Amino acid sequence: MAAKPLLIVVSGPSGSGKGTLCTMLRQALPNLAYSVSATTRQPRPGERNGVDYFFISDAEFQQLIDRGEFLEWAEVYGHRYGTARPAVEGQLQAGRDMLLEIDVQGALNVRKSFPDALLIFIQPPSLQELGTRIAHRGTESAQDLKVRMDCVLSELQAAEQYDRVVLNDKPEYALAELLEIITDVRRKRSEGGKKDSK
Ligand code: 5GP
Repeated sequence: MAAKPLLIVVSGPSGSGKGTLCTMLRQALPNLAYSVSATTRQPRPGERNGVDYFFISDAEFQQLIDRGEFLEWAEVYGHRYGTARPAVEGQLQAGRDMLLEIDVQGALNVRKSFPDALLIFIQPPSLQELGTRIAHRGTESAQDLKVRMDCVLSELQAAEQYDRVVLNDKPEYALAELLEIITDVRRKRSEGGKKDSK
């Protein structure tokens, strides 16, 4: 019997480089399905609707909550973000492995619906490096930057609830580790038995 498809959930603080790593992972594993989240935050320059996020209004977001369309949603850094339930369930039912890049609240909620989900936390090399990365990105206002930095400690504490923690010092090493983890989990699961499969 084919192994159950894998739901991979990646989180990490702002500036941990998880976005870049997820892009690299998707390039390395082109068959990995990806869920584009909905958000109420404004697009950054260069972000595309339907590609980076579905950028929607607060009222539209609320309607989706009321209709039960979200597998999970959370307020992160003052805006709402959510994962569409039908997209995730559809891909998994079709047998495709799937990647979600969501915050720590969302990841722990996904685990409630999908206890087999593989939760991977991306750890930045240091707090100082984290601040430098966000500041250099130049996409956030001073106020937004402060909101994001204020959340870092509690986000880092959540790492202990994840199945794996990957240190993102150099993205190419972090990607290699991610690929190794995924290969290892897939192999263990296809050998059967979920118990020691993480
Ligand atoms: P950003 O504004 O930097 O794109 O994302 C802010 C945070 O929201 C990141 O931690 C990102 O992983 C998280 N995020 C993005 N999409 C979702 C989602 O659908 N659900 C949840 N819970 N968090 C999300």
